[in-house]
Amino acid sequence: MPIFTQNEINLHTHSFYCGHGTGTLKDYIAEAFKNPQLKVLGFSEHCQTPDEFYADRMRYDVFEDYVEDAFSLKNTEGLTVLCGAECDWNPSYTAYYRYLKERMGLDYILGSVHYYRDRESGRLRYYGKCLDVTPYLSDYVSEYTAMLRSGLFLIGCHPDLYCYHTEWNSLLEEAAREIISTAKETGMILEINGCGFQKKHIREDGSTRHPYPVPEFWKIVREEGVRCCINSDAHHPAHLISHPAFAFASENGLEDLLVKWEISDEGIRAVL
Ligand SMILES: [Zn+2]
Ligand SMILES: [Zn+2]
Repeated sequence: MPIFTQNEINLHTHSFYCGHGTGTLKDYIAEAFKNPQLKVLGFSEHCQTPDEFYADRMRYDVFEDYVEDAFSLKNTEGLTVLCGAECDWNPSYTAYYRYLKERMGLDYILGSVHYYRDRESGRLRYYGKCLDVTPYLSDYVSEYTAMLRSGLFLIGCHPDLYCYHTEWNSLLEEAAREIISTAKETGMILEINGCGFQKKHIREDGSTRHPYPVPEFWKIVREEGVRCCINSDAHHPAHLISHPAFAFASENGLEDLLVKWEISDEGIRAVL
C-alpha cells in the first residue's frame, strides 16, 4: 500500500469553483507538477447542500460540476488525484455528508467550523469577522467537538480558527484544551492550516500576527501528543505548498506528531 508523508500530499485546496478561490483544477495539477515532491493532490471544495443552506457558498449545481470535473482528473498520469470536500459541521446534514462519501464516492470529507450565529442579527457570520470570540466560545467548542466525534471526517480543519482576532487568554486556552482532548479521545487528526499565513490580524498596538495557526494552541497539541497534519488550504495554485506551515510544525516541535497517509482501494487513512 502506498504511504505518503506530509511533504508528498496536500488534501486541502480550493479553486474558482468556491467563489473566493482562483484557478481551475487543471491549474492546480500543473502547479503540482512544478513541485516534484508532491505525489498526491486532493481537491476539497467548500461543500454546498442540496437546499443551498450556505448563502455565500457556490450553488449546488456548481458543486456537482466541481465533483464531475475532479473525478475526470483522477486518471492524471504521475499524480494521484483525490476528490473531496470541506464540509461545515451541521448536524442537520449528517445524512447528506454520509451520502457524499458512501454513495457519491468522494474520497474523503474534511470537517470545519467556519460560522457562528450572530446574536444581534441572527445571521451566520464567518469567525474571521468576529472581533471578540468570547461570547461565541462555547458555541465553537460544542460544534467543533461534535464534528470531531461524528466519525464522518478525515481531518479536523483549522481547529484554532476561533482565535482569529482575539488575543490568547485563559478562556481561549480552556476552549483549546477541550478541543484537543476530544481529538485525543476520538483519534481525530488536527490540521496545521497554511491559509492563516496568507492573512493578517492587526493588534491594537499596530503590530501584526497571523490569525492562525496559533503557537499557544499547538503547544497544547504537542503536550497532549495529538496527531496532526499539514495542509495549505490553498485558494490560489501558487499557494499549493505552504512552506510557512512546515516551518511552523518544526519550530513548534510537532514533526513527530505528523501522520502519514495510506491510500488503497479502501480509501485514505492515517498511519500513525
Ligand atoms: Zn476552511
Ligand atoms: Zn478550506
